[in-house]
This record gives sequence, structure tokens and C-alpha cells, in this order.
Amino acid sequence: MSTFEQLKTEAQRIADVKYAAAVLNWDMEINMPANGVEARSRQLATLSGIAFEMGTSEKFSNLLQAAKDDASLDALQKRNVELLWSDFQKAKKFSQEFVEEMSMTVSQTFAAWEHAKKANDFSLYAPQLEKMIALKRKQAEIIGYEKHPYDALLDDYEPGMTAAVLDEYFNTVRSGLKPLLEKIKAQPQVDNSCLHQHFDRQQQWDYSIAILKQMGYDFGAGRQDISTHPFTTNFAATDVRVTTRINENDMTDCLFSAIHEGGHALYEQGLLTGNYGLPLGEAASLSVHESQSRLWENNVGRALPFWKYNFEIAQKTFPAQFSAISQHTLYKAINRVEPSFIRTQADELTYHFHIMIRFDIEKALMEGTLNVTDLKNYWNEQYQKYLGITPADDATGILQDVHWSHGLLGYFPTYSLGSAYAAQYYRQAEQDIPGLNDLIAKGDNAPLLTWLREKIHVHGRFYNSQDLCEKVTGEKLNFNHFLKYAEDKYSGIYGF
Ligand SMILES: [Zn+2]
Repeated sequence: MSTFEQLKTEAQRIADVKYAAAVLNWDMEINMPANGVEARSRQLATLSGIAFEMGTSEKFSNLLQAAKDDASLDALQKRNVELLWSDFQKAKKFSQEFVEEMSMTVSQTFAAWEHAKKANDFSLYAPQLEKMIALKRKQAEIIGYEKHPYDALLDDYEPGMTAAVLDEYFNTVRSGLKPLLEKIKAQPQVDNSCLHQHFDRQQQWDYSIAILKQMGYDFGAGRQDISTHPFTTNFAATDVRVTTRINENDMTDCLFSAIHEGGHALYEQGLLTGNYGLPLGEAASLSVHESQSRLWENNVGRALPFWKYNFEIAQKTFPAQFSAISQHTLYKAINRVEPSFIRTQADELTYHFHIMIRFDIEKALMEGTLNVTDLKNYWNEQYQKYLGITPADDATGILQDVHWSHGLLGYFPTYSLGSAYAAQYYRQAEQDIPGLNDLIAKGDNAPLLTWLREKIHVHGRFYNSQDLCEKVTGEKLNFNHFLKYAEDKYSGIYGF
């Protein structure tokens, strides 16, 4: 067996353990009874400990070294080895105790968050969150950083990204979006009452399944379930699962959660199976991941061509609710812009402010300039400052997101970046695929999916997000493409 084949075999064995843990995680959120949390936390900690042991072992180190020294590798193998090597160098910085402590803390913090959210009481969550933040600060010190402890965490999700670059990015977002939001605010508000009627649970579920199929999501390699917070998880490109949630008084929650997670899942299903367990079989970064979900959710799912095809289907599915309205009424309703409390339900413009607030908070938590005990007040003040609204309770405010309970700090900014990438990629797809919007208007999403597969999915981690964007669109991330898209779209909807 060649040096690369030997390395690949071991990397895949490590991946087997990690994905087995991912299955347990999925089960924890979908099926597990409440009393199972303690045993499950233990099982997850053990598995992540085993994966860590294997991934930092002398055996793996020797296999890596041999492959690194092998001059006969082709370009793809070489890139796999490079990325495995840098992952290995990073992993080696952590002790096994730290990894197991993190896994255990994640399980406990998630349980505390769920409990507190149900009870609508942040104080039930705060002590556990405090432990998590302390551990994340410890993690940043272990990884090391040049300027800001937050940079160390960002690197996990968005290689090369820094707090300083994000400060600048969010300045552009703020100054670009503010005038647009002012123009929208000056116009009469769009009527979205058609969305806020009673919608049957089963009908909503069936509709979301049909839309996933239309997008090209392969149910032979996936399934959809219900969870508190919609997510996508994968155990191989041939087993990629999504979740959604159903709100009987707003059909957009289930529909757009399904489209969004479906976009994530199409990316994972599009990774090359031959690269299972290797970096080139993994997504490039979280912002690239989010570019895929946002592209399907916003640039496709909230645009006119999609509804030219789907309006009739929606009318047939929900005749009592939609038979008396026009296609344009529904299109405008699903694109209503209005400051709101819940990030996942926010329109695509004010959404960026939800992210900016979380970015500021995370940065301050990592600096130690903000304490968990002050978090709720700070959160409410920021919402008042940027969106002009104050959450009435904890569940619709500080407790709404699952991320911090999973230890995912540095993750939120990738949502905003993903939205910007999505606009830039969609613009490129329009140029590359003749009549793209006409095809979508006929319900034919296959050419777009093929384009995404060829341009983005098949590369795995070969390129980082910035280089991939430049390769596909000819330039680095440029927020002006999002602004142009937003200007064109919302001037039509709000009539300015
Ligand atoms: Zn997403």
C-alpha cells in the first residue's frame, strides 16, 4: 500500500469514530428521552476522546510524515496531506483531558439551554454558559493568536478570518444597509397577513418534503425530522440529514427552514464519496456552507422565478389560505422587511444586524469586557439600539439560539458572510447558465445544482473561502453584490 493509501485508511477510521459521535448527537436532539442526557454526554465524551487519541497518535503522526515526504503524490493527494497536517498540528495543542472536558461541557450546556428556554428563564442557563465561556477562553489561549483571542476561535470555522477584518466588514454592512432600510421604512408596509393563518401540520410537512425533492435533495441519502432548532448533519455524503420545525400560524417557518437546511444538505451530498474522511471530502468553510443554504433560501426560494412555478402548488396545498390571493401578494409577503426578535425568522436585510450584535457580544465575552451575568441586559440594549425593539422575554431574546450551548463561538459571523457570498455566487450563476431564471420558473433547478456541484461542492476544502470565491467569480468577497441584489429586489417590492 502506498504511503497515501495507508494515511487515508487511518484518516477514514478516525472519521468513522467522529461520524459515529455525530449520529449520537443527532439522536440526542431528535429522539433521546430527557433522562438520557447524562449517559449520552458520557458516551459522546468517550468517542471524542478516542477520535482525538487516534488523530494525535504516534502512528498517525508517522503516516502523515511518510506521506509528506513522498514525492510521488498527485496534486489532490498533496493537498489532502497538507490539510491533514495542519489539522494535526492544531489538534496536538490540546490535551485529551481538555477535549473530553469540552465534550462533556457541551452536552451539559445544551441540556441547560433547552431547560432554560422551555422555562423562559436565562438565569437557569447563565451558570452553565459561564463555564462554557471560560473554557472557550482557555481554548483560545491554547490555540494562540496574534491580536485578538476571538481570532483563534474564528479560525475553526473560517480559516484566515480575524476580528479586525470582520470589524471592517460589518462597518460596510452597516453603512450599506442603513440607507436601504430607511428607504423601505419610508414606504407603506407590505401586507403579510396571508402567511399568518392556521396551516395544518401534516400539510406543511408534506409541502416541505416536496420542495426538498424539487431542489434535488436525495432522500436515498438523507431524511428530514423535526427539532427545536433546524440543522443539517452528515455522516457521509451518502447520509446527510436535515431537520425543520413547524409553526401552525406561519407556514414560512417550516418551508424556509427546509429550503435553508436543504441547501446545506445539497452541499454535503455533493462532496465526493471517494474523499470520505479526508479534507477534500469536507466543506470548505462555514461561510461557504452558509452561502449554499442562503443561495437556495433567498436567491432562489424568495425570488420571483421560484414562485412563478410554485405558487400554483402552494395554492393547491393550502387552498383555504391562498386561493384568494395573487402570486405577487405571496411574493411580497415572504419578503416583508421588518425588525424582529428571532434571528432565524428575520428578513434577509435586518438579518445582518442580528449577526452583528452576536459578533460584538462574542468578541466582548472573549475579551472579558462583558460578563455572562450582564449578557441579557446588554443583548436587550443592542436590539433597541440597532433594530429599535426590546425582547419581551428571554426565549425570544438571549435564549433563542442553540450555538453558544454547543461552544460555537466565532460561528455567527459566517452567516452574514455566507449571505454575501450567496449573492455573489448567484450573480455568477446567472451569467454562466443561459436562462437560469426561466429554468427555475419552470421548476427546473437541476442546471443550478449542477453548476454548484461543479464550481463549489466537488472541491471540498481544496480552496479556502476567499480563493474559491475568486476562482468562481473572478473577485474576492464583495458586499456590493449583495447590496445591488437587495436594491433591485426591494425597490420592486416596496416601490421606490
Ligand atoms: Zn445555515
